[in-house]
Amino acid sequence: MKKLVLASNNAKKLKELVALVAPLGIEVIPQGELGVSEAEEPHCTFIENALAKARHAAAATGLPALADDSGLCVAALGGAPGVQSARYAGEPKSDARNNEKLLEALAGHADRRAHFVSLLVLVRHAEDPQPIIAEGEWHGEILPALQGEGGFGYDPLFLDPASGQTAAELPAEIKNQRSHRGLAMQKLLERLQEL
Ligand code: IMP
Repeated sequence: MKKLVLASNNAKKLKELVALVAPLGIEVIPQGELGVSEAEEPHCTFIENALAKARHAAAATGLPALADDSGLCVAALGGAPGVQSARYAGEPKSDARNNEKLLEALAGHADRRAHFVSLLVLVRHAEDPQPIIAEGEWHGEILPALQGEGGFGYDPLFLDPASGQTAAELPAEIKNQRSHRGLAMQKLLERLQEL
């Protein structure tokens, strides 16, 4: 594998993925640079949506494709926003409105536990019968107010208990080491080395 298309149009997520894929020594190309549109994500599980995104990018480009479907699952909300994380507050997608909605939904809740999930799927081609799949989780809690300027999405509300900082306060390389996406990528790299 010499080239890989990254099946995401989220600029900040792409930046994290590019850094995480660097050890592979493969040329990685964001799908937007190849004119690939955003895939439909109609499913109710991360794995199904990740597969749909990876297949869509592989079919459109003829290249192997790596997709991440990820989101935040909040215990007191029965796992919401889950696969709806990007569009929790509706269209158009807005991190600010999503965070506001989450704070409203959790108002008065003592249980603030939450975890991020990342499902990484690598397909070697659009009809790959055996995609390489890896999952990572990052457990923490939701703060009552935004804290920190870095990262994206729910990062300013997500407290990482190990550091006492939000995901938006952690330096990018530290977030990548301990995040759901970082952990899933470590597992994916291990699987690739076994092949
Ligand atoms: P996807 O691009 O359809 O997988 O949507 C992922 C959504 O989950 C993002 O738009 C964020 O709202 C949320 N999310 C996923 N990973 C992170 C993260 O590392 N930090 C903060 N929010 C995240």
